[in-house]
Amino acid sequence: MKLTDLEIAQQTELTHIKEIAKMVNLKEGEYEPYGNYKAKLPIDLVERLKDEKDGKVILVTAINPTPAGEGKSTTTIGLGQALHKINKNAIIALREPSLGPVMGVKGGAAGGGYSQVLPMEDINLHFTGDIHAITTANNTLSAIIDNHIHRGNELNIDQRRIVWKRCVDINDRALRNVNIGLGGKAHGIPREDGFNITVASEIMAVLCLSNNLKDLKNRLSKMLVAYTHNGDPVYVNDLNAEGALTLLLKDAIKPNLVQTIEKTPVLIHGGPFANIAHGCNSNVATKLASKLGDYVVTEAGFGADLGAEKFLNIKCRFADINPSAVVIVATVRALKMHGGVPKDQLKEENVEALLKGVENLQKHTETISSFGLPYVVAINRFMHDTEAELEALDNWCKENNHPVELAEVWEHGGNGGINLAKRVVGLIDDNEPNNYAPLYTLDQSIEEKIETIAKTVYGADGVDFTKDALKDLKEINDKGWDKLAVCMAKTQNSLSDDATKKGRPRDFRITVRQLRPSLGAGFIVALTGNVLTMPGLPKVPAAMNMDVDENGNAKGLF
Ligand code: ADP
Repeated sequence: MKLTDLEIAQQTELTHIKEIAKMVNLKEGEYEPYGNYKAKLPIDLVERLKDEKDGKVILVTAINPTPAGEGKSTTTIGLGQALHKINKNAIIALREPSLGPVMGVKGGAAGGGYSQVLPMEDINLHFTGDIHAITTANNTLSAIIDNHIHRGNELNIDQRRIVWKRCVDINDRALRNVNIGLGGKAHGIPREDGFNITVASEIMAVLCLSNNLKDLKNRLSKMLVAYTHNGDPVYVNDLNAEGALTLLLKDAIKPNLVQTIEKTPVLIHGGPFANIAHGCNSNVATKLASKLGDYVVTEAGFGADLGAEKFLNIKCRFADINPSAVVIVATVRALKMHGGVPKDQLKEENVEALLKGVENLQKHTETISSFGLPYVVAINRFMHDTEAELEALDNWCKENNHPVELAEVWEHGGNGGINLAKRVVGLIDDNEPNNYAPLYTLDQSIEEKIETIAKTVYGADGVDFTKDALKDLKEINDKGWDKLAVCMAKTQNSLSDDATKKGRPRDFRITVRQLRPSLGAGFIVALTGNVLTMPGLPKVPAAMNMDVDENGNAKGLF
C-alpha cells in the first residue's frame, strides 16, 4: 500500500541537528538548537561569512499549476538530495508553509513522497514561530494606530485612509472587511478595517527582503500606515513603533536549519505567497545558503509568471544574487489541464490535450530566456502518467530545443533526480550563456514596469488601469514613490489575470485595479483582476481530515 507523505515522514529516523550543522561546517555555538532537529542560525553569521565564495543559486519554478501544486517544493528538495548523491555540496533554501493552505487545500507544504523536509509536522504547523511573530508585529502596529487615534490623534490620521490592515495566517474570508471599535466610547474609534493573510503582509515581505537587523528596522520604520486629513503620509516612524516591531522580530529574522529525508541540509525561512506577495524565501537564508554550500537549490511560488518573475526582478536585485540556472517543473496533468481537460479527467491518458497544453510551458521557457538564464525542464512524474504521454512530452521538448529530464524524486528521493542534477550542474559548469538581468530598471515609470511584466512575462497586449488605480498612481508619482520595484498580485491559475484562461492566452490585456505602496519592502503592489489578499477555505478544507492521537502524533497532514 502506498504510504502518505506523513507516514513516510513519521517512519524516517531523524539525525540530530548538530550533525546537519556539521555538514555545513557550522561549529557548536554558531547555531541555536530548537530541540533536537531544528536550529536557528544567528544573523551575525551573514557578516562573518561575507567574504566566503558564493555558491551557485539554482531557482526551481513551474508552469501554471493545478490547485494541488505541481511539485515545485518536492522537486527542489529532490534536486538538492540528488546533488548530494553526485557528491556535490548542496544546500536547499525553502519558504515556510503558511497555515492557510495547510488547513485549506494543500494539507502540507514540505515536499512530498521521498523528497520531504523534516520534521514535517513542525514545519507545517507552528515551526519556530516565525510566522506568529510576524502576525504579532503586524497586529501590534494596528493596535498602536488605533490607540493613537483613541488617545487624541496627535498625528491627525484620517481614519478613513488607514492603509495598514490586521492579519492572521489562516484562510478566513469573513475577515476581509470588518468593522472595529464598536461598543461605545471606551472601546476605541469605530472604523472599517480588514485582514490580510500573514504571508501576504508587508512585514513578511520586509522580513524576507532585509539583510540584517538594522536593515529590518529601517524598512519597518518606512512602512506607510495611513494618510492625515491633509493627505500627508504617516509612516511607522511617525508612531515611533519600529523599535518594538524589530524587537518582536529579532528571532524571526534568523533562518531555520533542518534536514531532508536524506539528511540534506535545508534552510527554511520566510513564506510570502507568490500570487499576492513576492513569493520567495528570505534574502538572509539564500545568502547564507550560498556561503554554506557550493550549490543552493531554492524555489519561488506558483508559476514562472509569478514567483520566478519576482525572484528575478525583485529578490535577486535587492539581495545582489546572481542566479546560475533555472529548473522549470512541468507535469503531464497540468499540461493536460492547459490543453482543455476538466479537473476530474486529468488521470486519463490524453496525448492530444497534452500536446495542446505545452504552449503554457513554452511561454514559461521564453520568460526565463528573457531574463538571460539557462534552464532545464523537469517533468515531475506522477503515477497516472502513461508512457505515451511522457514520451510525447519528452519528444516535444527535444524537438523544440528545451533541455529536459524526467524527475522521479517523489517516488525515489535523490536517486530519482540524478539525471536532473547532472543536467543542472552541466548547465552551470559548461558555461551555458548566463546573461541574467532584471527585465526593468528602477528608474522606469510604474506604468512602464507593469507593462514590461505584462507583455514579456504574461504575453499580454497591454495594461489598463481602472480609475481607482489611476488615482493611486497619481499619489505614488506625487509622493516620489515611483522608483520602487513592482510586485504583481495576479491569479496563479492563468498567465492572464483571468483564472479561467488556460494554456497560453492571446489577445488579452491586464487590468490593474489598485496600487498599494509597500514602502518598507521597496515595491508597489499592483492588484490585477479580482485577486484577494485574504483567501477563503474550500468546500471541504484539508483541516477536516486532520487529527492527533493520544501520543501527540499528527494525522491527515497529507
Ligand atoms: P508546489 O511546490 O508546486 O506547490 P508541492 O511540491 O508542494 O508542489 O507538491 C504538492 C503536492 O503534490 C504534495 O502533496 C506532494 O506530495 C504531491 N506530489 C508532488 N509530486 C508528486 C508526484 N510526482 N507524485 C505524487 N504526488 C506528488
